[in-house]
This record gives sequence, structure tokens and C-alpha cells, in this order.
Amino acid sequence: MTTILSGKEVASEMRRITKAESLKLKEKGIVPTIGIIRVGSRQDDIAYERGIIKNCDAVGIEAKIVELPEDVNMDDFSDKLHQINEDDHVHGILIFRPLPKQLDEERIKYMINPQKDIDCMNPQNMVKIFEGSLEGFLPCTPSAVMEILKYYKVNLNGINAAVLGRSMVVGKPLSMMLLNENATVTICHSRTKNLEETVLNADLVVAAIGKAKFVNKDFIKSGTIVIDVGINLDENGKMCGDVDYDEVSELADMITPVPGGVGSVTTSILLKNVIKAANNKS
Ligand code: NAP
Repeated sequence: MTTILSGKEVASEMRRITKAESLKLKEKGIVPTIGIIRVGSRQDDIAYERGIIKNCDAVGIEAKIVELPEDVNMDDFSDKLHQINEDDHVHGILIFRPLPKQLDEERIKYMINPQKDIDCMNPQNMVKIFEGSLEGFLPCTPSAVMEILKYYKVNLNGINAAVLGRSMVVGKPLSMMLLNENATVTICHSRTKNLEETVLNADLVVAAIGKAKFVNKDFIKSGTIVIDVGINLDENGKMCGDVDYDEVSELADMITPVPGGVGSVTTSILLKNVIKAANNKS
């Protein structure tokens, strides 16, 4: 029987823990607070912001929204970021991306206070993952994958993992996080030769390539654990992952659905990071 790895269940358990941690902080007089910097009013940003605020309310985290005009220049953006960096009442900072092109993300990522960098934007935090350190902030999507594996008690020690995708947002940091848990990791990308054969050898397959239903039954042997990070639209405009769920779930031992899998956990990671930042300060 295939186990469906429910991101919603993982997120619910994480919310329970975060709420308890938030209460403990409040007893010490600290109100854990996230500062969200939003430039402009893009529909998807507004929807994401609404979702975060709702989740914050549920766990007792305060949200401070900094809205800047779409045409804000680099100096004004930097001043605002500096203010929040220095604001003792804000513990974690999230900058909505992509930023408009007049803002230099390559500079901004170094400007965000690494102690408040809950979305792991600053390379100082990224480097820590490559060093195998858990001190910094881990990026939300790879962390969501790791939380799901932990919640469902998947023992990563020595297993063969294939990660499809090598982006800095998902594939690369996730590969390091799996390696830190002693998995033997193969990182696959668009130039990988014999992709099917390589993926077929894996006990754990993580798909993060952005290609609807790309990973089908030809990539998966019986008993594999399959984590689908992809968010795509299928031919009927319905949300789907990078994995052909109907085909692969027949073979997999465990599989995440889309929607209801990895994507359901990412906001909970963000809030967990706010609590971590507030605890570091207390
Ligand atoms: P990305 O930056 O576009 O990177 C895609 C990666 O996939 C690249 O490394 C690329 O290889 C590789 N790739 C593309 N086509 C391939 C193929 N045919 N065979 C093997 N590898 C291939 O994407 P991303 O930001 O990492 O996101 C990946 C997916 O995850 C997207 O569907 C995105 O929407 C989703 N996502 C989900 C969440 C969530 O919360 N669930 C968060 C972030 C992203 P090269 O490096 O060789 O080009």
C-alpha cells in the first residue's frame, strides 16, 4: 500500500509546536514578529501575504507589512530594509520576490540581516548549509521536504537519493541537506545523461524541475519514496507536480500529492524560522 505523505498533516503538527513556542516567548514578554517587505501590489504577492497573515494569527505571530511603491528606487528600498534590520521588535524578515528590475537583488541579498533572514536569502546562511551547520536559517522549500521526511520517519542514513533540479532555491540546498543526513545524493539536471536509469537506481526521488508530470513510471522502481516539489498546470489548467501521480503512485512506497504536499508546509517553515529568530534574541 502506498503511503500518501500529507503536507497538510505535517503543517498542522508544525503549527501546534510553533503556537506553543510562541506562547512561551510571550510569557517572557516577547511578541514574535515577522516583517514582510512587499514592493507593489501583484495579485500573487497579495494572496501569499494574506495566507501568511492568516497562519501568523493562528500561531500568535505578529505580522508587520512594509508596502513600497512598484517604482521604489534602490536607495529608498535600502533605507527601509536597514530600518527593519535594526528594529528590535521585528525578528524575521521576508522580502517578496521577484523584485522589480530597478532593485538589485544581488546586492539586497547581502544587505538583509543574516540573523533575521528567515527565507535564507543571504549567502551567509546558504553557506552554513554547505558546511553542514544548523545554526543559520534553512530555505523554506528544501526544509519543507526534510520536515515531511522527518514526520514520516524516513531513515535517510545511507540511502540513494536522486534530486532532479539544481537551482539555488530547491535542488542544491536540498541535496546538501540530504547529504548532511547521510544520504548518498545524485544531483540531476537538464544535461544529465541516462536520466531515467540514474533515477531508477534511487530509493528516494525528489523532483524539482518545473515540468508537468515529467517523472513517470519509467523513472521509478517499486518501493521508492517520491517527493514532488513541482508546481505546474496540466493540459486542463489544473495544478499538478513534476511527477505523474497516477502512474507513479502505483509503484511508490510513499509519495507526496500536488496540491497538498510540499507546498502546504513552506509557510509553516517560515513561521518556525520566525520563532527561531525570536528565541536567538531572547
Ligand atoms: P528552476 O530554477 O527553473 O530550476 C529547474 C531545474 O530543473 C534546473 O536545475 C534544470 O536544469 C532542471 N531541469 C529542467 N528540465 C529538466 C529535465 N528535463 N531533466 C532534468 N532536469 C531538468 O526551478 P526551481 O525554482 O528550482 O523550481 C522547480 C519546481 O519547483 C517548479 O515547478 C517550481 O514551481 C516548484 N517550486 C515549488 C515550491 C513549493 O513551495 N512547493 C517552491 C519553489 C519552487 P539546468 O540547471 O541544467 O537548467
